[in-house]
Amino acid sequence: MSMEMPKTPMLDQLESGPWPSFVSGLKRLAQSEDKSYAPMMKDLLGQLERSYQTRKGYWKGGTIGVVGYGAGVIPRFSELKDEFPASAEFHTLRIMPPAGMHYTAEILSQLCDIWEKYGSGLIALHGQSGDIMFQGIRSENVQPCFDEMNELGFDLGGAGAGVRTSISCVGAARCEHSCFDEARAMRMLVNAFLDEMHRPSLPYKFKFKVSGCANDCANAIQRSDFAVIGTWRDEIQADQDEIRRIVARRGRKWLIDQVITLCPSHALSLNDDDSLDIANHDCVRCMHCINVLTKALSPGRVRGATVLIGGKRTLKIGDLMGSVVAPFLRLESDEDYEALLDLARRVMDFFIDNALEHERTGEMIERIGLVNFLEGIGLEVDPNMIRHPRTNSYVRTDGWDEEAAKWKARHGAAE
Ligand code: SF4
Repeated sequence: MSMEMPKTPMLDQLESGPWPSFVSGLKRLAQSEDKSYAPMMKDLLGQLERSYQTRKGYWKGGTIGVVGYGAGVIPRFSELKDEFPASAEFHTLRIMPPAGMHYTAEILSQLCDIWEKYGSGLIALHGQSGDIMFQGIRSENVQPCFDEMNELGFDLGGAGAGVRTSISCVGAARCEHSCFDEARAMRMLVNAFLDEMHRPSLPYKFKFKVSGCANDCANAIQRSDFAVIGTWRDEIQADQDEIRRIVARRGRKWLIDQVITLCPSHALSLNDDDSLDIANHDCVRCMHCINVLTKALSPGRVRGATVLIGGKRTLKIGDLMGSVVAPFLRLESDEDYEALLDLARRVMDFFIDNALEHERTGEMIERIGLVNFLEGIGLEVDPNMIRHPRTNSYVRTDGWDEEAAKWKARHGAAE
């Protein structure tokens, strides 16, 4: 077993940029000499350096699980186990987070203690599906580690061709833009499809994501098969006195430049008396004006959610944002939430019956046609359904290094 810190000239370069580097984190764990996982992390760094040199990954899969579950542990066996024996097995435990990612410090501390006892100390909060990713554990530790986390109230998340762990934004507990009970919607959907998560049996992955408004903090539109995104049906609530105070403080030009001209549907105008005119029938609920004028504007009173199906970047057929299939669902009463669940069941049944192997919902809809899909799930075509809000979610990254340097200057070199 190698106990020396491996030489990692290529990985070291990744620490030289302005952003925090995962390499520094791995080194910190490897240098924790009093911890049992230090040798594992040293060998992991050694293998990773080799991967950078040869441009080759050395992990292979296998079968690892815990009693009663068919998914949730990602097996990682090293092809370089003779050279790096301490990290020969480096499995990942996917654990479902609480709705809205609300943790107490005590729970986080208990999770860390369990992971230090059995695993590598390396945790990713959170993976793209939403799971807490506990990365790096040997086969014999998987079951006892999961048992202790389960005792704390946590369950394994999804993996493989099944329902994946769901995610919801921070929601009504911390955000005034919330348009429904996000945590309730997420828990309801997860609980209803727990079998498909624990025993993957679908043609391919299926993800639910829940965001309380169109800011979409859960990335639902581009990263989920079934996106529930909050919206409202009536008029934006406006406090005109507050608008006037903002104009008095920041000027008419600021409001026009920062809010009115940036409204994508030109639904805003500033009156002579410094009040804001909102053409609500033109508003596409993008959230921009509400985000900028948080104190003065808020979503309407008739709130609910839009459901979009088939988002994913990147699919074999390219990037897809979800298509709107339910423009507005009121989400207040038990019946309203039951209706959302009923829609989810119909979509899931159709997906199971009609998708090809290794085909996501977006690809299935492209293949069979949106009209056939709507007919299959029993929805009437509605002019408010939107097929392509935008098809490409790529952002240009030119100039990011300069932005990073400015950020560093603002926050001090110590960062
Ligand atoms: Fe315009 Fe968006 Fe505000 Fe609607 S929410 S008025 S579309 S900026």
